Amino acid sequence: MNCPDCDGNINVPADASVGEIVSCPDCGADFEISKKDGSIELKKAETVGEDWGE
Ligand SMILES: [Zn+2]
Repeated sequence: MNCPDCDGNINVPADASVGEIVSCPDCGADFEISKKDGSIELKKAETVGEDWGE
């Protein structure tokens, strides 16, 4: 799979399950695996920052 951010190559296991987090080795972004119409998609994972906003 290609990273949606930088187009780098992300290794997603064929048996990856929805909700697993994969990281892009190129830019370090985290993506959550989701499936749509039977094919795997990567969606940007919510990054937990140090600032919780309150
Ligand atoms: Zn990337």
